Amino acid sequence: MSKTQANKYTVKRGQQFGALRVVKVDASLRFYNERACWCQCVCGQEVKVSLRRLHLGQYRSCGCVREQRRARYTKRRRANGRRALMALNMLKRLGL
Ligand SMILES: [Zn+2]
Repeated sequence: MSKTQANKYTVKRGQQFGALRVVKVDASLRFYNERACWCQCVCGQEVKVSLRRLHLGQYRSCGCVREQRRARYTKRRRANGRRALMALNMLKRLGL
């Protein structure tokens, strides 16, 4: 991979991707051989996400929002349902 390609996807600390906010940028951090960064979800959970996937919009939350949506369909209450609901409301506010 050329240097240009490697630097194609960059993030800044504090940048927002859906429910995820970039909290730590580490040039040496890798996720499945891709450059990655640490993000904090609106629910409070920290996740490591590849920069490419962030930019492609493949990661919008730590997974809690998806769980919440599924939980709503099945009408089943989950232990983290409240946190997920907070995250979902935050996403709505962000217009996502
Ligand atoms: Zn979350």
